[in-house]
Amino acid sequence: MSLIVQKYGGTSVGTPERIRNVARRILDTRAEGHQVVAVVSAMSGVTNRLIELANEVTGESEPTDREMDVLLATGEQTTIALTAMCLNSMGSKAVSLTGAQAGIETDGVHTKARISNISPSGVHELLNDGNIVILAGFQGKTPDGKITTLGRGGSDLTAIAMAAAIDADLCQIFTDVDGVYTCDPRVVKDARKLEEISYDELLEMASSGTKVMQSRSVEFAKKFGVVFEVRSSLNRNSGTIVREETMSMESVVIRGVSLEREQAKVTITGVGDHPGTAGKIFGAISEANINVDMIVQNVSVSKTGTTDISFTVHKNDIAKAERALQPVLVDLGENVKIDAVDGIAKLSVVGIGMKSHSGVAAEMFAALSNAGVNIEMISTSEIKITVTVAEHQIEEAAKAVHAAFELGDSPIKER
Ligand code: ADP
Ligand code: ASP
Ligand code: MG
Repeated sequence: MSLIVQKYGGTSVGTPERIRNVARRILDTRAEGHQVVAVVSAMSGVTNRLIELANEVTGESEPTDREMDVLLATGEQTTIALTAMCLNSMGSKAVSLTGAQAGIETDGVHTKARISNISPSGVHELLNDGNIVILAGFQGKTPDGKITTLGRGGSDLTAIAMAAAIDADLCQIFTDVDGVYTCDPRVVKDARKLEEISYDELLEMASSGTKVMQSRSVEFAKKFGVVFEVRSSLNRNSGTIVREETMSMESVVIRGVSLEREQAKVTITGVGDHPGTAGKIFGAISEANINVDMIVQNVSVSKTGTTDISFTVHKNDIAKAERALQPVLVDLGENVKIDAVDGIAKLSVVGIGMKSHSGVAAEMFAALSNAGVNIEMISTSEIKITVTVAEHQIEEAAKAVHAAFELGDSPIKER
């Protein structure tokens, strides 16, 4: 008998019929003799609708993060009850647990909380009593009992963290596509499902827009060595295995292409070019819990001794970033100005094979140029190259780069 953690995302539990489908899949796993903990998300669209409602009732002022978490946690709470009821109606012993009831403790950073501890003895007891445990994704509680949520897509993290805490034999992430593809299959029609991918590659893809897995969940899986499979809840096809890299993975230079829309570029001009300025800027941004991604600093203008610093944020964070920067502006220089533009998107190519191959950037830039796409900002890491482009060109840019690296071919060519 194995202990299996399964996670079913929003689309997989999006209708009563889909919940019945999930219940049947859980029962099939049980019938094979395994113990099952099933983590479920809110039904698709519910979390977004709750956020809209919060904004509608609060008008101009923003809802507090504390109350936002109380609200958002209800999405998953609805699904656990419905799934457990459904299983009960099929004659099976199943109980639902909220994150707090399952012993998931977090820090107090509402809406983006980090898991600090899991006490899984209650889950083990229920399993040993012959129950299927249906666990609410995306939520936990602080040590003093406040409800918290784990950031968008956070049910992935619940599944991976619970799999580590109960030492599960298998962790399966069920979603609405067959696995991790070379690019979003909704954008690039000939994107291919990958048989396997390393933690580092999926982490880079997830943190640059590939939303099939929440990036923090992949980080957690890498840290605790949780091997998992991403697969579809809508068919029986095998999925993508995510694990530590192997030698053979390095022969493929580019594993995938990610895109991220709705980005904005914030530029601070006239910044005094001396030690401490970048620290002040990004200290203020991080205090406000804003995620910054690409950062570019210009060469300083020697006559004025000033420089410009640009960085990207989600377009919804523009106002928050400007507010956060106001108090430090006076310290940065006499003629400092902030300028923010949205309408940009990020495009990244990712692959651990890049460590040992050169020329990838040149090939990517040539593909974009041939497609008539202008590059605005560039940043690189050991296994990723990211550029920003105009948002309206992101799909053609992704298709051009995907084709240039021949990612639609099977098997992907070694270079
Ligand atoms: P869930 O609700 O199951 O958590 P998500 O909507 O969060 O599912 O993630 C699945 C979606 O991720 C897919 O429908 C797909 O459009 C999108 N996606 C983006 N990039 C990729 C990729 N490289 N491979 C697979 N899916 C991707
Ligand atoms: N319901 C949450 C969201 O929409 C968490 C999740 O689905 O993973 O972000
Ligand atoms: Mg998701």
